[in-house]
Amino acid sequence: LRILGIDTSCDDTGVGIVELADGRVTVLANRVWSQAVHAQYGGVMPELASREHVERIDQIMEGALHEAGLSVTDIGAVAATSGPGLVGALLVGLMYGKGLAQALNVPFHAAHHLEGHIFAAASEAELRAPFLALVVSGGHTHLFDVPRDGEYVLVGATRDDAAGEAFDKVARLAGLGYPGGPAISEAATRGDPNAVPFKEPLKGQSGFDFSFSGLKTAALLAHRAGATAENLAASFQRAAVQTLVNTTVRAATATGRGTVVVSGGVAANRALRDAFATTGLHVVFPGRGLNTDNGAMIALAGAAAIQAGRSASALDGGATAYAPLANA
Ligand code: ATP
Ligand code: FE
Repeated sequence: LRILGIDTSCDDTGVGIVELADGRVTVLANRVWSQAVHAQYGGVMPELASREHVERIDQIMEGALHEAGLSVTDIGAVAATSGPGLVGALLVGLMYGKGLAQALNVPFHAAHHLEGHIFAAASEAELRAPFLALVVSGGHTHLFDVPRDGEYVLVGATRDDAAGEAFDKVARLAGLGYPGGPAISEAATRGDPNAVPFKEPLKGQSGFDFSFSGLKTAALLAHRAGATAENLAASFQRAAVQTLVNTTVRAATATGRGTVVVSGGVAANRALRDAFATTGLHVVFPGRGLNTDNGAMIALAGAAAIQAGRSASALDGGATAYAPLANA
């Protein structure tokens, strides 16, 4: 079964195709158009995002079919993100996906964006509950326990900024440009992680929450006091990685989970991957190109829904800006 997945939740137009055969999934194609128009405004302009999705989506889908060596009639199921995200942007991919499914007369699956981020890791290993899932992206720092397939229990989340947002803000104040994550990661290789003594946020807490705003303020003060961009990057990254890894390891111990999925844009971070590798847990990260927003992760979430026996979504469901994943 070939499943086509679409994500237009924010400023990336993503279409991916996966194959589900004998209980195993393989990514056949993954095409992403990252909108550049927003850079001049310093943030995503929702109206422009919707318009760009409309203008690009045909071309991105053709590109994905070409990459997979398939024609559109080879597609046996369609999945598209229905939320959370920018409603106008979501609607473009959602309506496109529904129309495609109807034209092909194949099942349609509405996907949750965070379930997409989590199942991006299914490209690397078979993901069967129970496991723990840390989503670290531009808008989320959420730790879920997944006791059974399709069931999500929120065990911790950021109290303020998301991890990716903190990387972006610290990069901006250090003059390292946008997007901040890759810029910090690169500059950090030339800096001293102990040059600025940033404290691990919420150290000593009994729960599993995260906080990045204090770290961001401390970075601003260190910058004003003359810390170099490289030292700031290395020290901030060290503290951010510490809090993410230590809190997740404590949660894994508390819940008894041996497998942890780490996904979302920040999961591309080399230092974070290296630190998780030393924890003794079975840690699964998304494959290359599947960390930040893309369509293949939505196709993978669709594949997981199909494997779990979930029925197809009704074609009259809408897009939702706010949609918590946890059902408890
Ligand atoms: P959400 O899914 O929460 O709505 P999003 O989809 O915008 O947010 P992603 O595309 O998953 O977020 O991730 C983007 C974020 O990942 C940005 O904040 C970016 O700085 C960060 N990021 C990307 N690469 C790296 C890296 N190598 N190290 C750290 N952060 C990174
Ligand atoms: Fe995302």
